[in-house]
Formats: sequence, structure tokens, C-alpha cells
Amino acid sequence: MSGASSKLNKQQVKHDLHGEEVGRRGSFYCDFCNTKMSIEEPVMYDIARIHDMAHLELLVDLPDGWSLDAARCQNCEVEGITPETDGWEEAVVILSVNESNGVLSVDAHSLTVVDYSPGEEGECPPPVQAAFLSRQGVSMSRWGFLKSVIETNEVDVRPLQVYRDMLEELEGETD
Ligand SMILES: [Zn+2]
Repeated sequence: MSGASSKLNKQQVKHDLHGEEVGRRGSFYCDFCNTKMSIEEPVMYDIARIHDMAHLELLVDLPDGWSLDAARCQNCEVEGITPETDGWEEAVVILSVNESNGVLSVDAHSLTVVDYSPGEEGECPPPVQAAFLSRQGVSMSRWGFLKSVIETNEVDVRPLQVYRDMLEELEGETD
């Protein structure tokens, strides 16, 4: 954990994320385990912004600015970004989700930063598997996302095993 939450430009985050539509058909789900979540309390979100992902840029269109990467239910909550990924500016935040006429959207006015990782800090991004990229999106190139996918995925397919081994190696180094 960097503990550098003060360096996150919260105004920029609010500008980029406020009003973003979320959920599916008026309901809100955890992006890792698919549990339906209440929006009465603020929710935890991984948010991310491309810093420098030249390899990825060749494969897909990358979003500009901050994007909502993944909502986390209580079971999938984290205390921080581990491991951090070089090339992504990342944060774990807590924000509110509002409902209006059956449409859910992010209210970023009150934004709590749990952890923040600048774009040039962390481990080299995981090698991107094309199959995962099409299914899970560019988030798979962030260790913090990938780690939760591995932890919540009961089907231990071969590519996930490879990532799991890499993660264990990474975490072994930093311990
Ligand atoms: Zn979950």
C-alpha cells in the first residue's frame, strides 16, 4: 500500500466519474462474484486510469480518463491495492450510487479514498491473454483486478493457474 491518497486528484476523479451509469436493469452487482448489492450504503469501487499501456493500446481502444473498473461487495472488499500495477493509475474508493427512474448512476460528490497507486508505481502488468481481454476487458491487465478474479473464480482454468502462479511469485518477493 502506498498510503499516498493525498496525491490522487479527487476533483479529476469526480469530474470523470460523476453521473456514470452503473448496474444492470436497475440492480447493482459485485463485479467479481456477481452478488446483488444494496445501494443504500456507499459501495467500494476499483477505479483506474491508463498511464502508459503501450502494448495494450495496440490491441484495444483504451478509455480516456478515470473509469469505474469494478464494484466490490463486502465479501470482495480489499484494504488496498495489491499488487499495484505499473502503467495504471489506480485507486480503491468508496462512493454512493443513486437511483433515479430505475437508472443507477454514480454520485461521486462524497468520495472516500481507501488506497491510491500512481501510474508509474508497482509491478509490470500481467501479460494479457486475448481471450480474457475480450471477456473481461482491459481490467485484466491490472494485478489488483486479476487477483480478485482468481480468488472468486471457482473454475480453475489453465490461464488462471498461470496468473495465480505469477501472483504468488510476485507476493513472495514483496513479503
Ligand atoms: Zn463480491
